[in-house]
Amino acid sequence: MIEKLYLSISNDVTGEHYVAGCRLPVRLGKHPDSDNQVLFDAKFRAISRVHGTIESTPRGLHYTDTSSNGSRVGGLVVRDAKVALSPRFDIEIGDYHVRPVEASPLTVLTTEMALLELQRMELLPGRGIGVVRRGSTLAIADLNRWTEWDKQTVAVFQVVADQNVLVVEDIDNAPPILINKSKVTKQRSILAPLDVVEINNIRFEVLDPHMKSVVCSHETCQLLNRPPHEQNCKWCGRHLANTGAISRIL
Ligand SMILES: [Zn+2]
Repeated sequence: MIEKLYLSISNDVTGEHYVAGCRLPVRLGKHPDSDNQVLFDAKFRAISRVHGTIESTPRGLHYTDTSSNGSRVGGLVVRDAKVALSPRFDIEIGDYHVRPVEASPLTVLTTEMALLELQRMELLPGRGIGVVRRGSTLAIADLNRWTEWDKQTVAVFQVVADQNVLVVEDIDNAPPILINKSKVTKQRSILAPLDVVEINNIRFEVLDPHMKSVVCSHETCQLLNRPPHEQNCKWCGRHLANTGAISRIL
């Protein structure tokens, strides 16, 4: 049985669309204090506080409606009942469409230059990860969550048409941004796994969860390489084994 599920959530009325990584079972509704992992906008009256739940069973994913107004699954009304979820079926809850998606997310890992981990977040289609100012430092934020909207965004990681893109925001006093030690001159750059984005001495690493990486331990380099250790760093040219390089796997 699967434990984690990625849900594409869209609303034709508001135009919002994002992908949420959820732990199963997933409760969906509009009540902020309950265990809802997918929280709908409270202004939609047809949606209940806890509208429904997606769970994993030995026979696949099932959806249980617990709402007053019902849901639609694959176009059919479901009220106070449990149905099997086919991969092609949308769950319609008010104006929202919810659909499980196949996703193989990349991770954006934020570290200090000493490689101390600060934060990590999954890069998924429809989900914007912002590099935002937090006081005098930077952090990564989920731009699809309304609590992050008011923060000043320096750059955004996004998946656009299956490409991982870094968009540099045009803001005043923007700090210089480097990708793999080269200064970014374009507003949009395409990122690959193991790319390292540096802003204000904070590293944002793009990591594939299935890929092992080797960090060059030379203090002025510290960039990511593919294994093995017995080769030169592709960035600074020093032999990785001699720099005391460290391996990391997600
Ligand atoms: Zn190096």
